[in-house]
Amino acid sequence: MVRPKYSQIFQYIESNFPMGSKPSPMESFWVKDIESNQYPNLNGPVSEEKATFSSPEEAAETIRSFAKAAGASIVGFSDVTDDIVFLGAEVSEKNCIVIAYEMDREAILTAPDPPAGIEALRAYWRLGRIVQSTAAFIRYMGYPARGHQVRTYLKDPPTILNTLAAYKAGLGEVGRNGLLITREYGPRVRIGTITTDLPLPKRGPIDLGVDRFCSTCRRCLESCRGKAIPYEKDQSGKYTIDPKKCAPEFAKYDGCGICIAVCPFSNGSGGGSDP
Ligand code: SF4
Ligand code: SF4
Repeated sequence: MVRPKYSQIFQYIESNFPMGSKPSPMESFWVKDIESNQYPNLNGPVSEEKATFSSPEEAAETIRSFAKAAGASIVGFSDVTDDIVFLGAEVSEKNCIVIAYEMDREAILTAPDPPAGIEALRAYWRLGRIVQSTAAFIRYMGYPARGHQVRTYLKDPPTILNTLAAYKAGLGEVGRNGLLITREYGPRVRIGTITTDLPLPKRGPIDLGVDRFCSTCRRCLESCRGKAIPYEKDQSGKYTIDPKKCAPEFAKYDGCGICIAVCPFSNGSGGGSDP
């Protein structure tokens, strides 16, 4: 399996297209909290005393219950395979937990206006807390666990390709807009991953009919002001967004997000089941 290469897109945006508006105190706090408190604490010491589970399914249910109590919307499990680990990153754990966190529908549907970008940042902050605390809980139960950064525009490059990890864990399918589309919330989610050696069950990808729907829908493609969304899949069979075409619009609107707002699947009101 080929390891993905990080596009450095946020560094490209930062150096070429300064973001539009000045952040509010709350937005500044979220960013500071992610960088100073969440990110350095994604890993830590493991308790000597090990919890015992009768099966991988029981361990998964324990973790799912904790993550849901912390605020997770959907929780799934998969293997750590080369195609989800960015080139240059080191991940020694064999299993992963993938968490999706719903972004508020009303706010996201305003994209590209500011409430959408603010909601996306809030979701990064909130999901970071969920990932950090769930990884800490697994270590508390005596198993190594490492949270991976959720917000990709930190100084360090990301380690896990969250969208693909979520697809492999059965949380949804990847749409023409390049985003994970879940049954419950469509692309209106942020995704985070925890890797661990605790044995867990694997669900595998699911077919929600998204790929067939995208082949005729094209609503995101027609609404994208940067013309960054493709008509056709690339040679690897995926729709690949052109990050350099997306970047100026992303910067101009502090997050853009039109391709989330116009997607018919974004109208989902949740209430579905975990994979
Ligand atoms: S964020 Fe905006 S510019 Fe970028 S792909 Fe989506 S719609 Fe296009
Ligand atoms: S807007 Fe249409 S084509 Fe684009 S991801 Fe959503 S369903 Fe697919």
